[in-house]
Amino acid sequence: MKTYPVEIEQPGSQPKFYSAEYQVSQGARLQSDLERAWNYDLQARCLCQQGKKLPLYPRKSPKGYIICRYPDTGRDHAKDCTFYGVTNTQSGAADYSPGVIRLEDGVLKIRPLHGLTRRPPAEPAVEMPVERDKATNRKKYGRASELGVLHTIWEEFQVNQWWPRMQGKRSWFTIGRYLLEKSRMVKYGQSELSAALAILVPNCFGERARVFVEQAQAVFAGANKNKRRFLILCEMTRLTQVEGRPRCTIDGAWSNYQLDAYIPPELVESWVRRYPLAMNAIDTDHSHCIGLLIGEVQNPDKKGRVGAKILHGALMPVTRQFIPYDSSHEAKLANILVETSRAFSKPLRYDSEDDTTLPDFLLLDVRRGDEYPCEVFGMNTADYLARRQAKEAFYNSTRGMDGWWHWDAAADAESIPPLPGPGR
Ligand SMILES: [Zn+2]
Repeated sequence: MKTYPVEIEQPGSQPKFYSAEYQVSQGARLQSDLERAWNYDLQARCLCQQGKKLPLYPRKSPKGYIICRYPDTGRDHAKDCTFYGVTNTQSGAADYSPGVIRLEDGVLKIRPLHGLTRRPPAEPAVEMPVERDKATNRKKYGRASELGVLHTIWEEFQVNQWWPRMQGKRSWFTIGRYLLEKSRMVKYGQSELSAALAILVPNCFGERARVFVEQAQAVFAGANKNKRRFLILCEMTRLTQVEGRPRCTIDGAWSNYQLDAYIPPELVESWVRRYPLAMNAIDTDHSHCIGLLIGEVQNPDKKGRVGAKILHGALMPVTRQFIPYDSSHEAKLANILVETSRAFSKPLRYDSEDDTTLPDFLLLDVRRGDEYPCEVFGMNTADYLARRQAKEAFYNSTRGMDGWWHWDAAADAESIPPLPGPGR
Protein backbone atom coordinates (compact mmCIF):
# COMPACT_ATOMS: atom_id res chain seq x y z
CA MET A 1 0.00 0.00 0.00
CA LYS A 2 3.07 2.14 0.05
CA THR A 3 5.35 2.72 -2.90
CA TYR A 4 9.02 2.33 -1.96
CA PRO A 5 12.02 3.32 -4.10
CA VAL A 6 13.18 0.78 -6.68
CA GLU A 7 16.28 0.58 -8.83
CA ILE A 8 16.75 -0.93 -12.27
CA GLU A 9 20.11 -2.32 -13.34
CA GLN A 10 21.80 -0.62 -16.30
CA PRO A 11 24.27 -2.54 -18.48
CA GLY A 12 27.76 -1.17 -17.92
CA SER A 13 26.81 1.51 -15.38
CA GLN A 14 25.26 2.19 -11.97
CA PRO A 15 21.65 1.10 -11.42
CA LYS A 16 19.08 3.83 -12.02
CA PHE A 17 17.21 4.95 -8.89
CA TYR A 18 13.46 5.64 -8.90
CA SER A 19 12.04 7.40 -5.87
CA ALA A 20 8.49 6.72 -4.74
CA GLU A 21 7.41 10.20 -5.91
CA TYR A 22 8.94 9.59 -9.35
CA GLN A 23 7.14 6.27 -9.72
CA VAL A 24 3.80 7.83 -8.82
CA SER A 25 4.14 11.01 -10.90
CA GLN A 26 6.22 10.10 -13.99
CA GLY A 27 3.78 7.81 -15.82
CA ALA A 28 5.03 8.06 -19.42
CA ARG A 29 8.75 8.32 -18.65
CA LEU A 30 8.56 5.41 -16.25
CA GLN A 31 6.72 3.39 -18.91
CA SER A 32 9.48 3.93 -21.48
CA ASP A 33 12.15 2.98 -18.92
CA LEU A 34 10.23 -0.16 -18.01
CA GLU A 35 9.79 -1.03 -21.69
CA ARG A 36 13.54 -0.78 -22.14
CA ALA A 37 14.13 -2.91 -19.03
CA TRP A 38 11.71 -5.51 -20.38
CA ASN A 39 13.34 -5.50 -23.84
CA TYR A 40 16.84 -5.95 -22.42
CA ASP A 41 15.77 -8.28 -19.60
CA LEU A 42 17.14 -5.97 -16.90
CA GLN A 43 16.54 -6.79 -13.26
CA ALA A 44 14.78 -4.38 -10.92
CA ARG A 45 15.10 -4.31 -7.14
CA CYS A 46 12.86 -3.10 -4.36
CA LEU A 47 14.55 -1.04 -1.64
CA CYS A 48 11.78 -1.31 0.98
CA GLN A 49 13.98 -3.13 3.53
CA GLN A 50 17.05 -1.34 4.85
CA GLY A 51 20.26 -2.96 3.60
CA LYS A 52 18.46 -5.35 1.27
CA LYS A 53 17.80 -5.36 -2.47
CA LEU A 54 14.82 -7.56 -3.23
CA PRO A 55 14.70 -8.82 -6.82
CA LEU A 56 11.85 -7.77 -9.11
CA TYR A 57 11.35 -8.06 -12.84
CA PRO A 58 9.63 -5.99 -15.54
CA ARG A 59 6.70 -7.44 -17.43
CA LYS A 60 4.32 -6.42 -20.21
CA SER A 61 0.69 -6.44 -19.04
CA PRO A 62 -2.60 -5.27 -20.55
CA LYS A 63 -2.20 -2.15 -18.38
CA GLY A 64 1.25 -1.36 -19.78
CA TYR A 65 4.67 -2.26 -18.43
CA ILE A 66 4.71 -3.18 -14.77
CA ILE A 67 7.21 -4.46 -12.20
CA CYS A 68 6.49 -7.80 -10.51
CA ARG A 69 7.87 -9.66 -7.57
CA TYR A 70 9.13 -13.21 -8.04
CA PRO A 71 6.94 -16.07 -6.72
CA ASP A 72 7.52 -16.93 -3.05
CA THR A 73 9.29 -13.65 -2.26
CA GLY A 74 6.23 -11.71 -1.07
CA ARG A 75 7.05 -11.99 2.62
CA ASP A 76 10.58 -10.70 2.18
CA HIS A 77 9.17 -7.22 1.50
CA ALA A 78 8.15 -4.69 4.16
CA LYS A 79 4.60 -5.31 5.40
CA ASP A 80 3.36 -2.08 3.83
CA CYS A 81 5.32 -2.44 0.56
CA THR A 82 3.16 -2.87 -2.55
CA PHE A 83 5.18 -6.02 -3.34
CA TYR A 84 4.37 -7.65 0.00
CA GLY A 85 2.26 -10.77 -0.53
CA VAL A 86 1.04 -14.07 0.79
CA THR A 87 2.22 -16.69 -1.68
CA ASN A 88 5.04 -17.68 0.68
CA THR A 89 3.79 -17.14 4.15
CA GLN A 90 3.52 -18.12 7.80
CA SER A 91 -0.21 -17.40 7.87
CA GLY A 92 -2.97 -19.97 7.39
CA ALA A 93 -2.15 -19.84 3.66
CA ALA A 94 0.84 -22.07 4.43
CA ASP A 95 -1.62 -24.96 4.85
CA TYR A 96 -2.60 -24.98 1.18
CA SER A 97 -1.05 -27.54 -1.16
CA PRO A 98 1.51 -26.00 -3.55
CA GLY A 99 -0.13 -23.98 -6.31
CA VAL A 100 -3.50 -23.26 -4.65
CA ILE A 101 -2.49 -19.60 -4.33
CA ARG A 102 0.36 -18.74 -6.65
CA LEU A 103 1.88 -15.75 -8.36
CA GLU A 104 2.66 -16.01 -12.07
CA ASP A 105 3.98 -12.98 -13.94
CA GLY A 106 2.40 -10.57 -11.52
CA VAL A 107 -0.99 -12.30 -11.62
CA LEU A 108 -2.26 -13.90 -8.40
CA LYS A 109 -3.88 -17.22 -9.32
CA ILE A 110 -6.30 -18.92 -6.96
CA ARG A 111 -7.56 -22.51 -7.30
CA PRO A 112 -11.03 -22.17 -5.76
CA LEU A 113 -13.24 -24.80 -4.12
CA HIS A 114 -16.29 -23.60 -6.07
CA GLY A 115 -15.76 -22.70 -9.71
CA LEU A 116 -18.01 -20.40 -11.71
CA THR A 117 -19.42 -22.90 -14.22
CA ARG A 118 -23.18 -23.23 -13.82
CA ARG A 119 -24.12 -26.74 -12.68
CA PRO A 120 -27.45 -28.54 -12.28
CA PRO A 121 -28.98 -27.94 -8.82
CA ALA A 122 -29.04 -31.69 -8.02
CA GLU A 123 -25.29 -32.08 -8.41
CA PRO A 124 -23.59 -33.25 -5.16
CA ALA A 125 -21.66 -30.73 -3.06
CA VAL A 126 -17.98 -30.26 -3.84
CA GLU A 127 -15.69 -31.65 -1.13
CA MET A 128 -12.51 -29.92 -0.03
CA PRO A 129 -9.51 -32.04 -1.09
CA VAL A 130 -7.31 -32.60 2.00
CA GLU A 131 -3.95 -34.37 2.28
CA ARG A 132 -1.52 -34.92 5.17
CA ASP A 133 1.92 -33.42 4.83
CA LYS A 134 4.25 -36.32 5.73
CA ALA A 135 7.01 -34.15 7.19
CA THR A 136 4.84 -31.95 9.47
CA ASN A 137 1.67 -34.06 9.77
CA ARG A 138 -0.34 -30.89 9.05
CA LYS A 139 -3.42 -30.93 6.84
CA LYS A 140 -2.89 -29.53 3.34
CA TYR A 141 -5.90 -28.11 1.53
CA GLY A 142 -6.16 -28.60 -2.23
CA ARG A 143 -8.46 -25.63 -2.93
CA ALA A 144 -9.42 -22.30 -1.40
CA SER A 145 -12.97 -21.94 -0.05
CA GLU A 146 -14.71 -18.55 -0.24
CA LEU A 147 -13.28 -17.81 3.24
CA GLY A 148 -9.80 -18.66 1.93
CA VAL A 149 -10.33 -16.37 -1.07
CA LEU A 150 -11.61 -13.57 1.18
CA HIS A 151 -8.57 -13.92 3.45
CA THR A 152 -6.27 -14.04 0.42
CA ILE A 153 -7.71 -10.75 -0.88
CA TRP A 154 -7.48 -9.10 2.55
CA GLU A 155 -3.90 -10.16 3.20
CA GLU A 156 -2.45 -9.98 -0.33
CA PHE A 157 -3.74 -6.42 -0.71
CA GLN A 158 -2.93 -5.51 2.93
CA VAL A 159 -6.47 -4.67 4.05
CA ASN A 160 -5.68 -6.71 7.21
CA GLN A 161 -3.15 -4.01 8.18
CA TRP A 162 -3.56 -0.70 9.93
CA TRP A 163 -1.11 2.21 9.80
CA PRO A 164 -1.76 5.51 11.62
CA ARG A 165 -1.67 7.37 8.27
CA MET A 166 -4.94 5.59 7.34
CA GLN A 167 -6.86 7.41 10.09
CA GLY A 168 -10.06 8.87 8.62
CA LYS A 169 -9.36 7.48 5.14
CA ARG A 170 -10.75 3.96 5.29
CA SER A 171 -14.33 3.40 4.23
CA TRP A 172 -16.32 0.91 2.15
CA PHE A 173 -15.94 3.34 -0.75
CA THR A 174 -12.12 3.62 -0.60
CA ILE A 175 -11.66 -0.11 -0.03
CA GLY A 176 -14.13 -0.94 -2.80
CA ARG A 177 -12.29 1.30 -5.28
CA TYR A 178 -8.94 -0.13 -4.23
CA LEU A 179 -10.04 -3.78 -4.52
CA LEU A 180 -11.77 -3.12 -7.85
CA GLU A 181 -8.40 -1.97 -9.18
CA LYS A 182 -6.49 -4.85 -7.57
CA SER A 183 -8.96 -7.47 -8.89
CA ARG A 184 -7.43 -6.96 -12.35
CA MET A 185 -4.33 -8.75 -11.09
CA VAL A 186 -6.18 -11.86 -9.83
CA LYS A 187 -7.46 -15.00 -11.51
CA TYR A 188 -10.20 -17.04 -9.82
CA GLY A 189 -9.82 -20.49 -11.40
CA GLN A 190 -10.04 -19.83 -15.13
CA SER A 191 -11.82 -16.47 -14.72
CA GLU A 192 -10.36 -13.00 -14.53
CA LEU A 193 -11.54 -11.85 -11.11
CA SER A 194 -12.28 -8.37 -12.45
CA ALA A 195 -14.77 -9.86 -14.94
CA ALA A 196 -16.47 -12.07 -12.34
CA LEU A 197 -16.57 -9.94 -9.18
CA ALA A 198 -19.09 -7.21 -8.37
CA ILE A 199 -18.27 -5.08 -5.34
CA LEU A 200 -21.52 -3.88 -3.79
CA VAL A 201 -20.51 -0.84 -1.78
CA PRO A 202 -23.39 0.03 0.58
CA ASN A 203 -24.83 3.53 0.98
CA CYS A 204 -23.20 4.72 -2.21
CA PHE A 205 -25.26 6.79 -4.61
CA GLY A 206 -25.01 9.09 -7.61
CA GLU A 207 -21.70 9.75 -9.30
CA ARG A 208 -19.73 8.03 -6.51
CA ALA A 209 -21.53 4.75 -7.24
CA ARG A 210 -21.00 4.86 -11.02
CA VAL A 211 -17.82 2.78 -11.20
CA PHE A 212 -19.36 0.07 -8.99
CA VAL A 213 -22.67 0.06 -10.89
CA GLU A 214 -20.93 -0.25 -14.28
CA GLN A 215 -18.77 -3.08 -12.97
CA ALA A 216 -21.78 -4.91 -11.47
CA GLN A 217 -23.85 -4.49 -14.66
CA ALA A 218 -21.01 -5.95 -16.75
CA VAL A 219 -20.49 -8.85 -14.32
CA PHE A 220 -24.20 -9.81 -14.13
CA ALA A 221 -24.75 -9.40 -17.90
CA GLY A 222 -21.65 -11.50 -18.65
CA ALA A 223 -22.67 -14.22 -16.18
CA ASN A 224 -26.18 -14.37 -17.67
CA LYS A 225 -24.97 -14.45 -21.27
CA ASN A 226 -22.20 -17.02 -20.73
CA LYS A 227 -24.17 -19.22 -18.31
CA ARG A 228 -21.62 -18.61 -15.57
CA ARG A 229 -21.80 -17.86 -11.88
CA PHE A 230 -20.62 -14.58 -10.40
CA LEU A 231 -18.90 -13.44 -7.20
CA ILE A 232 -19.95 -10.54 -5.02
CA LEU A 233 -18.12 -8.80 -2.22
CA CYS A 234 -20.71 -7.13 -0.04
CA GLU A 235 -22.02 -6.16 3.37
CA MET A 236 -24.63 -8.45 4.93
CA THR A 237 -27.59 -6.66 6.46
CA ARG A 238 -31.14 -6.91 7.86
CA LEU A 239 -30.81 -10.05 9.99
CA THR A 240 -34.30 -11.22 10.92
CA GLN A 241 -36.24 -14.39 11.75
CA VAL A 242 -38.93 -15.52 9.33
CA GLU A 243 -41.05 -18.46 10.53
CA GLY A 244 -38.33 -19.39 13.03
CA ARG A 245 -35.52 -19.37 10.46
CA PRO A 246 -32.77 -16.73 10.16
CA ARG A 247 -32.80 -14.47 7.13
CA CYS A 248 -30.38 -11.82 6.03
CA THR A 249 -29.81 -9.89 2.84
CA ILE A 250 -27.23 -7.94 0.90
CA ASP A 251 -26.89 -4.21 0.96
CA GLY A 252 -26.90 -3.97 -2.83
CA ALA A 253 -29.01 -0.99 -3.86
CA TRP A 254 -27.70 2.07 -5.64
CA SER A 255 -29.51 5.11 -7.06
CA ASN A 256 -31.19 3.33 -9.95
CA TYR A 257 -29.68 -0.11 -9.90
CA GLN A 258 -30.39 -2.99 -7.56
CA LEU A 259 -29.50 -6.61 -7.00
CA ASP A 260 -32.41 -8.62 -5.61
CA ALA A 261 -30.60 -11.61 -4.17
CA TYR A 262 -32.42 -14.63 -2.78
CA ILE A 263 -30.37 -16.34 -0.05
CA PRO A 264 -31.86 -19.77 0.78
CA PRO A 265 -32.59 -20.22 4.53
CA GLU A 266 -30.40 -23.38 4.59
CA LEU A 267 -27.42 -21.29 3.53
CA VAL A 268 -28.10 -18.67 6.22
CA GLU A 269 -28.48 -21.44 8.82
CA SER A 270 -25.11 -22.87 7.78
CA TRP A 271 -23.61 -19.37 8.26
CA VAL A 272 -25.10 -19.17 11.77
CA ARG A 273 -23.24 -22.42 12.60
CA ARG A 274 -19.97 -21.60 10.83
CA TYR A 275 -19.66 -17.84 11.30
CA PRO A 276 -21.50 -16.91 14.54
CA LEU A 277 -19.23 -13.91 15.17
CA ALA A 278 -19.84 -12.57 11.67
CA MET A 279 -23.61 -13.02 12.08
CA ASN A 280 -23.40 -11.00 15.33
CA ALA A 281 -21.70 -8.18 13.41
CA ILE A 282 -24.70 -7.69 11.09
CA ASP A 283 -26.56 -4.41 11.58
CA THR A 284 -24.19 -3.13 14.30
CA ASP A 285 -22.46 0.24 14.10
CA HIS A 286 -19.15 -1.02 15.56
CA SER A 287 -18.52 -3.76 12.98
CA HIS A 288 -19.19 -4.83 9.41
CA CYS A 289 -20.17 -8.33 8.27
CA ILE A 290 -18.36 -8.83 4.95
CA GLY A 291 -19.61 -11.52 2.57
CA LEU A 292 -17.91 -13.12 -0.41
CA LEU A 293 -20.75 -14.91 -2.17
CA ILE A 294 -21.23 -16.97 -5.32
CA GLY A 295 -24.52 -16.66 -7.17
CA GLU A 296 -26.40 -17.16 -10.40
CA VAL A 297 -28.48 -14.63 -12.30
CA GLN A 298 -32.12 -15.72 -12.35
CA ASN A 299 -33.80 -12.65 -13.77
CA PRO A 300 -31.60 -10.61 -16.09
CA ASP A 301 -31.44 -6.83 -15.77
CA LYS A 302 -34.84 -5.26 -16.33
CA LYS A 303 -35.25 -1.57 -15.57
CA GLY A 304 -32.23 -1.54 -13.26
CA ARG A 305 -33.11 -4.66 -11.24
CA VAL A 306 -31.28 -7.99 -11.43
CA GLY A 307 -32.65 -11.09 -9.72
CA ALA A 308 -30.17 -13.68 -8.45
CA LYS A 309 -29.84 -16.71 -6.21
CA ILE A 310 -26.90 -17.09 -3.83
CA LEU A 311 -25.41 -20.61 -3.74
CA HIS A 312 -22.25 -20.47 -1.62
CA GLY A 313 -20.40 -17.95 0.46
CA ALA A 314 -18.33 -17.08 3.48
CA LEU A 315 -18.74 -14.29 6.02
CA MET A 316 -16.06 -12.37 7.88
CA PRO A 317 -16.53 -9.91 10.76
CA VAL A 318 -14.36 -6.80 10.56
CA THR A 319 -14.04 -3.71 12.75
CA ARG A 320 -15.07 -0.26 11.49
CA GLN A 321 -11.57 0.00 10.01
CA PHE A 322 -12.09 -3.32 8.15
CA ILE A 323 -9.68 -5.28 10.38
CA PRO A 324 -10.89 -8.91 10.70
CA TYR A 325 -11.26 -10.37 14.19
CA ASP A 326 -11.83 -13.81 15.73
CA SER A 327 -13.45 -12.82 19.06
CA SER A 328 -15.04 -9.79 20.72
CA HIS A 329 -11.83 -9.38 22.80
CA GLU A 330 -9.83 -9.21 19.58
CA ALA A 331 -12.19 -6.57 18.19
CA LYS A 332 -11.67 -4.55 21.39
CA LEU A 333 -7.87 -4.83 21.10
CA ALA A 334 -7.94 -3.88 17.39
CA ASN A 335 -9.93 -0.74 18.25
CA ILE A 336 -7.49 0.19 21.04
CA LEU A 337 -4.56 -0.23 18.64
CA VAL A 338 -6.27 2.07 16.14
CA GLU A 339 -7.12 4.68 18.82
CA THR A 340 -3.53 4.69 20.10
CA SER A 341 -2.08 5.16 16.57
CA ARG A 342 -0.28 1.82 16.35
CA ALA A 343 0.74 -0.04 13.19
CA PHE A 344 -0.37 -3.66 13.16
CA SER A 345 -1.65 -6.55 11.08
CA LYS A 346 -4.13 -9.31 11.71
CA PRO A 347 -2.81 -12.72 10.58
CA LEU A 348 -5.55 -14.71 8.87
CA ARG A 349 -6.46 -18.36 9.10
CA TYR A 350 -7.71 -19.07 5.55
CA ASP A 351 -8.99 -22.67 5.49
CA SER A 352 -6.57 -23.84 8.17
CA GLU A 353 -7.89 -25.29 11.45
CA ASP A 354 -4.56 -25.33 13.26
CA ASP A 355 -3.78 -21.99 14.91
CA THR A 356 -0.84 -22.99 17.14
CA THR A 357 1.62 -20.77 15.33
CA LEU A 358 -0.76 -18.03 14.19
CA PRO A 359 -0.58 -14.89 16.37
CA ASP A 360 -3.81 -12.95 17.01
CA PHE A 361 -2.14 -9.67 15.99
CA LEU A 362 1.34 -8.49 14.99
CA LEU A 363 2.59 -5.06 16.03
CA LEU A 364 4.63 -3.62 13.16
CA ASP A 365 6.06 -0.56 14.95
CA VAL A 366 7.90 -1.99 17.97
CA ARG A 367 11.21 -2.63 16.25
CA ARG A 368 12.01 -1.94 12.64
CA GLY A 369 11.54 -5.04 10.50
CA ASP A 370 10.14 -7.05 13.42
CA GLU A 371 6.63 -8.41 13.78
CA TYR A 372 5.77 -8.44 17.48
CA PRO A 373 3.12 -11.09 18.38
CA CYS A 374 0.09 -10.21 20.51
CA GLU A 375 -2.16 -12.90 21.94
CA VAL A 376 -5.62 -12.56 23.42
CA PHE A 377 -6.46 -15.56 25.62
CA GLY A 378 -10.22 -15.43 25.84
CA MET A 379 -11.40 -18.83 27.10
CA ASN A 380 -10.79 -21.31 29.90
CA THR A 381 -11.88 -24.65 28.42
CA ALA A 382 -9.45 -27.56 28.78
CA ASP A 383 -8.93 -27.77 25.04
CA TYR A 384 -8.25 -24.04 24.79
CA LEU A 385 -5.84 -24.06 27.76
CA ALA A 386 -3.82 -26.85 26.12
CA ARG A 387 -3.49 -24.76 22.94
CA ARG A 388 -2.62 -21.71 25.03
CA GLN A 389 0.21 -23.62 26.74
CA ALA A 390 1.53 -24.74 23.35
CA LYS A 391 1.48 -21.12 22.14
CA GLU A 392 3.22 -19.81 25.27
CA ALA A 393 5.93 -22.45 24.96
CA PHE A 394 6.34 -21.63 21.27
CA TYR A 395 6.76 -17.87 21.85
CA ASN A 396 9.00 -18.25 24.91
CA SER A 397 11.34 -20.54 23.00
CA THR A 398 11.37 -18.57 19.73
CA ARG A 399 11.22 -14.97 21.03
CA GLY A 400 11.91 -15.08 24.78
CA MET A 401 9.56 -13.99 27.59
CA ASP A 402 9.76 -10.30 26.60
CA GLY A 403 9.41 -10.90 22.88
CA TRP A 404 5.64 -11.18 22.84
CA TRP A 405 2.60 -9.73 24.59
CA HIS A 406 -0.56 -11.32 25.90
CA TRP A 407 -3.82 -10.36 27.52
CA ASP A 408 -5.56 -12.94 29.71
CA ALA A 409 -9.06 -11.77 28.84
CA ALA A 410 -10.65 -14.89 30.33
CA ALA A 411 -9.34 -13.87 33.78
CA ASP A 412 -9.84 -10.10 33.38
CA ALA A 413 -11.80 -8.83 30.41
CA GLU A 414 -11.59 -5.19 31.49
CA SER A 415 -7.97 -4.25 32.16
CA ILE A 416 -5.63 -4.67 29.23
CA PRO A 417 -1.93 -4.97 30.14
CA PRO A 418 0.33 -2.19 28.80
CA LEU A 419 1.57 -2.83 25.28
CA PRO A 420 5.21 -2.41 24.26
CA GLY A 421 5.60 1.15 23.00
CA PRO A 422 6.23 2.06 19.40
CA GLY A 423 9.95 2.15 18.68
CA ARG A 424 11.27 2.95 15.23
ZN1 LIG B 1 9.38 -4.12 -1.28
